[in-house]
Amino acid sequence: MIFKLIKIASALTLSAGLLLSASSTNAATKDMQVHFINVGQGDSIYIKTAAGDDIIIDGGNKDGSDVVAYLKKQKVKDIEVMISTHPDADHIGGLDEVLKAFKVKSVYAPKVSNNTLAFKDFLTAVKREGLKVKTAQKGVKLPLKGVNATFVAPVKTYAKSDLNDWSAVLRLVYGKKSFLFTGDAEIKSEMDMIQSKQTLKSDVLKVGHHGAKTSTSSAFLKAVKPTYAVVSVGKNSYGHPTSTVINRLKAQKVKTYRTDKSGHIIFTTNGTNLSVKTVR
Ligand SMILES: [Zn+2]
Repeated sequence: MIFKLIKIASALTLSAGLLLSASSTNAATKDMQVHFINVGQGDSIYIKTAAGDDIIIDGGNKDGSDVVAYLKKQKVKDIEVMISTHPDADHIGGLDEVLKAFKVKSVYAPKVSNNTLAFKDFLTAVKREGLKVKTAQKGVKLPLKGVNATFVAPVKTYAKSDLNDWSAVLRLVYGKKSFLFTGDAEIKSEMDMIQSKQTLKSDVLKVGHHGAKTSTSSAFLKAVKPTYAVVSVGKNSYGHPTSTVINRLKAQKVKTYRTDKSGHIIFTTNGTNLSVKTVR
């Protein structure tokens, strides 16, 4: 009898153990993907969370057809969150087309406007979809399952002429892995983020403003301490990315990828491991 009880007990422990390992294996196979889409000179980032939510940050410079085609290839059906980091054409350019092509459930942007056709098209498209722009600013958290996605900037308001510093900066955390998407935030905003004492440390840094020397200050790089960095950049007359920033990243031993050299840059993480691949 005692023998029998022990047998049942060990069988129970065994099945409980199996259950545990089955569920933890399951959790570990759920991946989040972060795609830095090669849109030439501009930004567009697509994220698929492990819970299946779709996020798009910026839509590149052109008519948006390249971004729409990329998202369709990824079998995107609808988009839970669209983020316009700031109203410059190389970021919002294609967002109106994305709004036309997909059902978008919410749109976030900093509370600043621009006198350009690209910005007007964006606002018209948002209105046409019956949406209202939600304000992206420090402390605003995206209502998404399984991830912590919080804006760490803009920390304050800036002059209208400092459009880049208005950039909505999102920090995305899944398990133990984290990403910082900086838009075109420059040193003024970087300093404000540091002084606001928020957690900035991230495994992957989207390098600010296409590698211009007015972003990615040493102090900011020290606060973020990334393992990987991505420069979203194409042919341009601004000299992006600058050797100052590239050398700064090199000195910190950050593994840096560039969309103009590698094409699309795709990170995959299960919350513990992080891998990267490039696709032309
Ligand atoms: Zn830009």
